Amino acid sequence: MRPESLLVPTPAGLCCPDGGFHIDPVRRVDKALITHAHSDHAKPGHGAVLATRETLDLMRLRYGDGFAGTTQAVSYGETISIGGTTVSFHPAGHVLGSAQIRVERGGLVIVASGDYKDVPDPTCQDFELVPCDVFISEATFGLPVFRHGDIGAEIAKLMRSLALFPERTHLVGAYSLGKAQRLIALLRAAGWDRPIFLHGAMEEITHYYAARMDLGELRAVRDGAKGDFAGAVVLCPPSALGDRWTRRFPDPISCFASGWMRIRARARQHAVELPLVVSDHCDWDGLTRVIPATGASEIWLTHGAEEALVHWCGTKGLRAKPLHLVGYGDEEEVEVIEAATAAAAPDAPTDGSATDEPA
Ligand SMILES: [Zn+2]
Ligand SMILES: [Zn+2]
Repeated sequence: MRPESLLVPTPAGLCCPDGGFHIDPVRRVDKALITHAHSDHAKPGHGAVLATRETLDLMRLRYGDGFAGTTQAVSYGETISIGGTTVSFHPAGHVLGSAQIRVERGGLVIVASGDYKDVPDPTCQDFELVPCDVFISEATFGLPVFRHGDIGAEIAKLMRSLALFPERTHLVGAYSLGKAQRLIALLRAAGWDRPIFLHGAMEEITHYYAARMDLGELRAVRDGAKGDFAGAVVLCPPSALGDRWTRRFPDPISCFASGWMRIRARARQHAVELPLVVSDHCDWDGLTRVIPATGASEIWLTHGAEEALVHWCGTKGLRAKPLHLVGYGDEEEVEVIEAATAAAAPDAPTDGSATDEPA
């Protein structure tokens, strides 16, 4: 069987005709297999959804109870027969519950990795290397300029600033699913034991994480008095950094945790004083480490700077092509665009709630 007939790119997303399912469909479909709960991969309204327990729970938190007709929780490593195919989910190391989806038929194995990173993250299971014939990889940071570096050094930078400016609020923009909780866990590991304050848009998801791991004392910004914020760490969605919501904090230092902070112009564009290079995606080194390690002879690339990786694969004797799937991006970019769209609407709230996740 040709890989192109096992998984087919369609306008709705990657389709498996034999199994009658789509992976991370961007349009409503009868049966969806979903890698993780970020909004560009997990849409509401599908007939049936198969995903890990955590992904299903996080989708329910975002979209409400009726987010799918039916749901089926799949454990990592469990094999399921769908049509003539065998399917299993494996840790992607991206956010809590994130999975790579392995699809097999007649000895041919394709792994759709969704978003992934191969560096340790205390808030989710480590990336698992799954041998395959065709590996589908994101290319969000698929340029050699993207080297995320040592995350410990980034956390140390934040800790130094907290020590240097004990009266100022450190307002940290971080994507509300995954990034925010990883930062909290890393700050705790670095010895930050004061309460950490949360913007309203990230309370529910963070409490879901906190029920599964120790994130220390968490408080809602709306429950804090002005004096509580001096020298405090406050986490908010990146799009809230420029919001009037920030006026309640004493002389805040604007920080932004993102892989894009490697690019100085991005930090300037967001008026960020303290850029923190923290990413939940592989950097160039991670991508070029994982891709050959899968043993795949063919690489399909999605969302991002595909061309540089296609070229790199060619130099390693790997066949590679961009899939041209529409609708996926870096979730931070997606959030900023959606917040801007919401803010442009006439009835847009101005208290920062426009930065909530899209419905
Ligand atoms: Zn993602
Ligand atoms: Zn993605």
